[in-house]
Amino acid sequence: SIRTRFAPSPTGLLHIGNARAALFNFLFARHHGGKFLLRIEDTDRERSTQQAVDVIFAGLEWMGITPDEEPVFQSTRADRHREVALELLERGLAYKCYCTPEELAQMREDATKNGLPPRYNGLWRDRDPAEAPAGAPFAVRIKAPREGETVINDLVQGEVRVANAEMDDMIILRSDGTPTYQHAVVVDDHDMAITHVIRGDDHLTNTFRQAMIYRAMGWDLPRFGHLPLIHGPDGAKLSKRHGAQSVVEFRDQGYLPEALCNYLLRLGWGHGDAEILSREEQIHLFDIDGVGRAPSRMDYAKLEHINAVWLRQADDTRLTDDVMERLKAVDGVEVDETTRARVLALMPGLKDRARTLVELTDNAAFLGRRVPLPFNAKAEKLLTPEARTLLSELARDLAVVSPFTAENIDAALRRFAEAGGHKLGSVAQPLRAAVTGSNSSPGIDATLHALGRDEVLARIGAVLH
Ligand code: GLU
Repeated sequence: SIRTRFAPSPTGLLHIGNARAALFNFLFARHHGGKFLLRIEDTDRERSTQQAVDVIFAGLEWMGITPDEEPVFQSTRADRHREVALELLERGLAYKCYCTPEELAQMREDATKNGLPPRYNGLWRDRDPAEAPAGAPFAVRIKAPREGETVINDLVQGEVRVANAEMDDMIILRSDGTPTYQHAVVVDDHDMAITHVIRGDDHLTNTFRQAMIYRAMGWDLPRFGHLPLIHGPDGAKLSKRHGAQSVVEFRDQGYLPEALCNYLLRLGWGHGDAEILSREEQIHLFDIDGVGRAPSRMDYAKLEHINAVWLRQADDTRLTDDVMERLKAVDGVEVDETTRARVLALMPGLKDRARTLVELTDNAAFLGRRVPLPFNAKAEKLLTPEARTLLSELARDLAVVSPFTAENIDAALRRFAEAGGHKLGSVAQPLRAAVTGSNSSPGIDATLHALGRDEVLARIGAVLH
């Protein structure tokens, strides 16, 4: 049965290109009733950090991409990697290379001088190991095939091929006994019984090299699917200047994980016009043959649009929890039960009007402020002397609305406007300015209801003098 894996190196952020590879592996496995595994490629001990491991775990969990088996840490498998390298050595499919760093540097220089890519010239491939100085350190190199070509039938790229003569005898075990990256990946994918390797197309050249190890060991190759990379909106490599790149950045900027996953899936994979897809629909519809070959361009506006749709569908309590967390960083806002109750009460109106949780938090902040409120310029302008007079009369009516429900508030406002010969808007706008400090908010009845009568009267009172 199908087994896929996500194999990040814990050396930095969880980049969205990698997150998308994780998502595709996950969906592909689920679609086919298989398993999705996680392998942390922490063989580079210098560059790997615990913090980066934590970021990967947290990011995947946030996106709801959870492995079906315990994660494998590549660094714990060094003995096994060594064992396979020594087996190849014993079977004459790999050999000991005693070249010194100086000799290797010279080889690279000579190749470059002849206009060739820097490569190993096979010096020790046929040389008698007895010629090596006693006890000299050696690396283990695999014997690359010298004739023919390696053909990969890639699930995304189609047939890709390389002449074997272009590949040199790469090191699989370094002189200090540690496995190289290429070698560790193959041994692990084989031992984890991975059937499909879906990863970025920046790994395509690695795949040809890794194929040598599979063939030497007589192991079946997995199927490969190399995903085109995500570019910036301008077609250049995605970089900081384009906007957010890591999963944590998108979270901080107020995107829901469902929206980010939905967007990353639609980026380079399509199913007709369907834009918003639930996880169940994604699992049902996704297959690797729907992935396009062209590089995708990041479209932040599209992501924002998809996020707005997901926000509207999201649970009010969940959104309130998130907004309360974010409000902790806002000056002049009380993050307490009173504020929480107000945010929760107004959430249906708030989430309809925001594209991100950051925007939603900005729009909700007034609920956590206490009099006197700060006013924006437009609100300031609405609070003319006439408006203040009107508000003082209106306050008397609002004081007797009971119970203080949105429906009763709405009725009271209409009565008040009609009795005074005002348009509803010319009552609602100064009122909104007085109680929110701004010229825009969800419906005025819902807004007043969320604040509660005492707070509404206090806020009106505060603008009367
Ligand atoms: N560890 C590699 C990376 O993070 C991925 C290796 C793979 O997917 O085969 O780029």
